Amino acid sequence: MCGIFGYIGKRDNALDLVIEGLKKLEYRGYDSWGVAADMNGKLFIEKQVGKISEADLSIFMGKKVQMAMGHTRWATHGGVTQVNAHPHFSWDKKIVVVHNGIIENYEEIKEFVGKEKFISQTDTEVIAHLIAFYRQTMPFKEAVLAAIHKLKGRYAIVVMNVGEPYLIAARRGSPLILGVGKGEYFLASDIPAFLEYTQNVMYLDDNELAVVGQDVEFTNIETGKPIEKRLVNIDWKAESADKGEFEHFMLKEIMEQKDSILRAINQDDDEILEIAEAIKKSRGCFFSGCGTAGKVCMTGEYFFSMIANRHVNFASASEFPIYHHFLRPESLLVVVSQSGETADVLEAMDAAKKKGAKVLSIVNVAGSTIARTSDYSLKINAGPEKAVASTKAATSQLAVLMLIAYAIRGELQEGRRVLAETASAVNDMLNPRFLTYVKDVAESIKSHENAYIIGKAENYPMALEAAIKIQEVSYMHAEGFAAGELKHGPIALISKGTPCISIIANDEVKQDIVSNTMELKARGALIIGIGPERFKVFDQWIKVPDVGVASPLVNLVPIQLLAYYLGVLRGHNPDMPRNLAKSVTVK
Ligand code: GLU
Repeated sequence: MCGIFGYIGKRDNALDLVIEGLKKLEYRGYDSWGVAADMNGKLFIEKQVGKISEADLSIFMGKKVQMAMGHTRWATHGGVTQVNAHPHFSWDKKIVVVHNGIIENYEEIKEFVGKEKFISQTDTEVIAHLIAFYRQTMPFKEAVLAAIHKLKGRYAIVVMNVGEPYLIAARRGSPLILGVGKGEYFLASDIPAFLEYTQNVMYLDDNELAVVGQDVEFTNIETGKPIEKRLVNIDWKAESADKGEFEHFMLKEIMEQKDSILRAINQDDDEILEIAEAIKKSRGCFFSGCGTAGKVCMTGEYFFSMIANRHVNFASASEFPIYHHFLRPESLLVVVSQSGETADVLEAMDAAKKKGAKVLSIVNVAGSTIARTSDYSLKINAGPEKAVASTKAATSQLAVLMLIAYAIRGELQEGRRVLAETASAVNDMLNPRFLTYVKDVAESIKSHENAYIIGKAENYPMALEAAIKIQEVSYMHAEGFAAGELKHGPIALISKGTPCISIIANDEVKQDIVSNTMELKARGALIIGIGPERFKVFDQWIKVPDVGVASPLVNLVPIQLLAYYLGVLRGHNPDMPRNLAKSVTVK
């Protein structure tokens, strides 16, 4: 969360570059933003509440500087206000900081540097004052090192010392990448933010600091020793941020699932077989992810049981510590993340590595920390996912997990065939009539304040995912349940007309969930069925193709569409839901 962008180099429009970079990073946080530059030895700073993409930027016209930095925020500590927006600066206005992460011991540091110096409620401001404190007696770099030795928690920071012609960057736990151009450097939370200027990058790893001026020097924060860094050439095209013919990225990305599922299964056979072997050999296989990726992992648990006859243990990454005792060198942790930067997932990986266990990651963003630091990594190839609500990444992640399950069963090519058929079924389903039908369903329930979703077996996690999608995009209260659990409590919530979505695949548990749906109907619920078969109990039916064990993939598509239309019809921007950010890099 939070996007950081810094520039230093030959161009004199550094502020414009930073602003353009921040716009590309806005998916990481969009409650407020700010930029800072050294204007002939005086601090220039501008901070605003709201989205940078909607701001009036005329104040920056004609301002010429060759070094600047900025931030787009997702607040963790302190409300969304102009004063809490980054950059933060020291009492003498000399040390300026942008930060992604959380400083856990900020109260203690506040006492140390003097509470009266603080003007914001953030944890970040302590970094600026602490560096300024050491700067009174030390050169800039030494002051930064001294300060960060005192910090507990996670950070990616870029620091400017007004009057010094260089930036200092450091990281522990949050992403930061250096783009290396000809006579210029970029610092950003992710690569696409500067990809139009350079394809050469150096990754800052944890506990590394970089002094970035006319050239760049890396230092290990713990030992103080210099580090040699490799220049990596990124073979990606500058990714288009274009919505094309669509009103929102979310709809565009839902529609792209026609192709993205196919791209997901386009994996190297040897690699998949090697991974299947590693899973077979492992003693203790754990799945973990957060949010939608967590629900994908949970579905993976069913796929592995149904297809590969293999037991795996799932826990959301934020709850993964429950499994720490059981990790050992023979264990394998499988993590799923769209961004490849999810803080809780990185922490689960650290725990696994400390115990000598191996890690397989399934990610969308190549070069991300999770991808770079796992033993095996598969890319889902979904292409950029800009909308905060994950859609195409989820179906691609499901496809990859299913493919691995088939490989474990010794039927990789059969898995590929089933998934290719599923991709083609999704293609047929996403036609204009289908979209209009789902929109009509959304219209019919849009003014309700509650919706419940039930699923069973491999579609139980999809009921949970449906609830996430509806909550985040439409702000309607939605909850997903295992169908069989209703009578143990949740059924008390049902009254006349309550919308209930029942996901019924053509599988062995179909009759059970039909009965559970009848129980809802008997209490007055309005039943929206999703599945290949029309049951009498349905008031409305969203027909999906019968793709056997791959049913979660086809069921998820209308769920995403329903959430999208509910969001739009309730007057919200589905691409940037309130309080959320795309890449969750804080705990
Ligand atoms: N903790 C900082 C703040 O609240 C940065 C938050 C983040 O990285 O998302 O301003």
